[in-house]
Amino acid sequence: KREQAQAMAMEKAVTKDGLALDVFANLANLEDAEKAIHCGAEGVGLVRTEFLFTDSEQVPSEQSQYEFYCKIAAAFGDKSVIIRTLDIGGDKPLAYMPQEQEENPFLGCRGLRLCLQHVDVFKLQLNALLRARVEHPNLKVMFPMVATLEELNQAKYLLNSCYETLQHNGIAAAMPEVGIMVEVPAAVANAGLLAKEVSFFSVGTNDLTQYVMAADRGNDTVSYLVSAAQPAVLRMIKQAADAAHEAGISIGICGEMAGDPKLTSTLIGMGIDELSMSPIRIAEVKQAVRETDSIKAVDTAEAVLNASTLKQVMSLL
Ligand code: PEP
Ligand code: MG
Repeated sequence: KREQAQAMAMEKAVTKDGLALDVFANLANLEDAEKAIHCGAEGVGLVRTEFLFTDSEQVPSEQSQYEFYCKIAAAFGDKSVIIRTLDIGGDKPLAYMPQEQEENPFLGCRGLRLCLQHVDVFKLQLNALLRARVEHPNLKVMFPMVATLEELNQAKYLLNSCYETLQHNGIAAAMPEVGIMVEVPAAVANAGLLAKEVSFFSVGTNDLTQYVMAADRGNDTVSYLVSAAQPAVLRMIKQAADAAHEAGISIGICGEMAGDPKLTSTLIGMGIDELSMSPIRIAEVKQAVRETDSIKAVDTAEAVLNASTLKQVMSLL
């Protein structure tokens, strides 16, 4: 079965009844891009840009970021490449983005929150993305750790003002599609409002799980709670999917769960449009898509969403 999955890795993933699902890769650098293409990625659902910033003693220049974003978008031709803006926080200090020591860094100033406090650094990244978008219409931008409409509006406002300034200065820039990560429970509760303001959602189930379950994703003592298959997490994902579709936008998943073939049909049944994962997971997930009947998957998803316990969910999968 595994060999069959590998042999068909480069083919599109279509369910038995003809529903095509986008199977994308998560990447952090250019070497991963080559690998992802060979593994059958049809696009990139998450480029983690953190390493550009952590590998550098000073803020990476706009030009060096621009070159990286161009290269990664070019590697995928006309296929979507979703670049996430810097998602870093108190647990990984950067000398050029000074922060107070935090007792609970995961509940502190991380991701978009930090960028909104260091607008100069953030603007370099936004400028680089706006410039890279000119030659690469497949490039999209995604903001991490959005909780409120105000944060999203601030980020969009900064993107717009960077765009206008570049234009004003005669520098070629183009506005990308903008999406958000849904990874803070507040974003699920606010999903209807947020969906009206963006082109896509991508659920970050790694963080969503730890925040919904109030259980640190790196703490072994509470690891029994840290599963994206917990009924509470699954119901939140469904809520986000319904809000996305009501607003007419797409929803993907870029947390680890997207790469688990046991969950593929359930996620299809919940209405998920795109799954983005570590490249090595792609072949098996595509195979799981091919084994799915999307109409039956709706029933499976309903049963799973009605389960009372993680154990029940697992036995249904
Ligand atoms: C997530 O939170 O699910 C996610 C994909 O982002 P990261 O793992 O980089 O926080
Ligand atoms: Mg996250």
